[in-house]
Amino acid sequence: KLHNTILELKGNIRVFCRVRPLLPEDGVGTDASVISFPTSVEGLGRGIDMIQNGQKIPFTFDKVFSHDASQQDVFVEISQLVQSALDGYKVCIFAYGQTGSGKTYTMMGRPEASEQKGLIPRSLEQIFQTSQALSAQGWKYKMQASMLEIYNETIRDLLAVNKTNGLDLARVDNGVPGKQYTIKHDVNGNTHVSDLTIVDVGSISEISSLLRQAAQSRSVGKTQMNEYSSRSHFVFTLRIFGINETTEQQVQGVLNLIDLAGSERLSRSGATGDRLKETQAINKSLSSLSDVIFALARKEDHVPFRNSKLTYLLQPCLGGDSKTLMFVNISPDPSSMGESLCSLRFAARVN
Ligand code: ADP
Ligand code: MG
Repeated sequence: KLHNTILELKGNIRVFCRVRPLLPEDGVGTDASVISFPTSVEGLGRGIDMIQNGQKIPFTFDKVFSHDASQQDVFVEISQLVQSALDGYKVCIFAYGQTGSGKTYTMMGRPEASEQKGLIPRSLEQIFQTSQALSAQGWKYKMQASMLEIYNETIRDLLAVNKTNGLDLARVDNGVPGKQYTIKHDVNGNTHVSDLTIVDVGSISEISSLLRQAAQSRSVGKTQMNEYSSRSHFVFTLRIFGINETTEQQVQGVLNLIDLAGSERLSRSGATGDRLKETQAINKSLSSLSDVIFALARKEDHVPFRNSKLTYLLQPCLGGDSKTLMFVNISPDPSSMGESLCSLRFAARVN
């Protein structure tokens, strides 16, 4: 009961923390574990402690997944939220954390290995299965997908057919030449991004091939610009239109799944030029996101949606009676301790 009250006070914003397993490439040879999980009743599954200089720094979230949580364990906890998009809610699920902390693993996973599929393929499978099951009650659904990337405050359409044969840097910076990607919200709370490719999807295999196309488009950018994908936000959007032919009831839901740019502080070694511009753009959009969620959680009158492309794009899906879930991904590598603390503090601020 108390837990429900807390959720109510916070509105529809929840924060889950996920710690990935230690990998062979992580710093090894240390016996000083930097993370522990409280075993007290109230801390179980909700607490995480960072250990710094022998001092315990405790954090509490709506849910904490340790390194042994499987993709299915995580999905079970979000499947209801995914379901609410079919019921007509606007839903956003974010993955936040430094590069290498497990954001992409959490969102996309390894789609080629079924037990390692991430939240995006699992959510889509659930949505298609449920929508088919609901047809027995008269429900007909139409779904539309779009996939974009925000890099340096510029939108890039990941489903645009590349007419110039091969991606050039002009396209990475400016989108497809001649395209504007202007964001507009209409009076009904629907978002329109001019020139953005929107694809009608009728099956999971159609979506899977779009996801592959988007991944391809992202990785092309990555080879041309070092670690490109970790410095851009990936936004997958599924719009769901449902109509019940018996009751004439209508619903419109949106599911946004967002793999955020790496949160690491990039500017330490005096970044200049493009690198500096990039760093500033990431810092600006991640801090805007934090400001927006913070303001929403406190039900403040002014919510600064317009301070970044990301928050402006998602504005109708963050306010009102929409539902937001933030994953804060954490690396257990002792050398990531500083960044992990930053991530936990960021998440604690919005939680
Ligand atoms: P990010 O997207 O935050 O940069 P990745 O998702 O690419 O991080 O994860 C970094 C590495 O760790 C990848 O090799 C990924 O497969 C692995 N990894 C991340 N989370 C897990 C997990 N929960 N279980 C197993 N491997 C993981
Ligand atoms: Mg990634």
